[in-house]
Amino acid sequence: MLEINSLSVHYGAVSAVRNVSIHVKQGEVVTLIGANGAGKTSIVKALSGLVSKSAGKVTFRNADITRLPAHNVTRLGLIHVPEGRKLVPNMTVAENLMCGAYCRDDKAGIASDFEAVLDRFPRLRERIKQQAVTMSGGERQMLAIGRALMARPELLILDEPSLGLAPLLVDEIFEMILGFKKEGKTILLIEQNAFEALAVSDRAYVLRVGEVVMTGTSADLALDPTLRQAYLGVS
Ligand code: ATP
Repeated sequence: MLEINSLSVHYGAVSAVRNVSIHVKQGEVVTLIGANGAGKTSIVKALSGLVSKSAGKVTFRNADITRLPAHNVTRLGLIHVPEGRKLVPNMTVAENLMCGAYCRDDKAGIASDFEAVLDRFPRLRERIKQQAVTMSGGERQMLAIGRALMARPELLILDEPSLGLAPLLVDEIFEMILGFKKEGKTILLIEQNAFEALAVSDRAYVLRVGEVVMTGTSADLALDPTLRQAYLGVS
């Protein structure tokens, strides 16, 4: 579904991503693991067209999206839940959700997806008229994911969905990702909670200072002694 070939990203003179190749097949959950500053967010921003690629090629569902602007990438179904959620703070829950359907014009489909999101996240239904700024961290994350679902994603990118959440809510987020996986959704996940991310994903790529240094099935990587020591903090 997604193929990234030899991607590089620079911010001026700073080289953030170097020669990275990653692929995601339909129905897979793939995790990017790496320390702060390893380049994970830069990779997914480059995919979405939010930062420019200095080299490489990206193919999504057989289309070359390397030079496609962000709004057209979204129209193809590559939907990004950004780090920090990036909701519109003074808009209500309902309005934020509807932002996700901005590119759609199938009224009946939008209405049924809206109900499906509220069924999935009953907390959002309870707070439908509340401004996003007044919501808790966990509720905001649900809202950001709900907004993404309103775009009917073919590929869902989740950048640090559990960041800053209390442990119980972190568990909920991983339960939700497992649920998505069972539904057959295709997900590219960035997570600091490497153990949990490996537990819910099929494959993973380990990044270090802008480069892929290890890749394999999540089950294998979770047992790899080097990885456990270097990235999971256990021996
Ligand atoms: P984190 O988990 O902290 O988000 P990350 O793995 O997602 O880390 P990136 O945010 O992609 O890493 O950052 C990769 C490198 O690019 C870092 O050295 C970072 O300082 C640099 N960088 C990121 N954004 C910018 C920017 N807008 N301008 C300059 N340098 C940047």
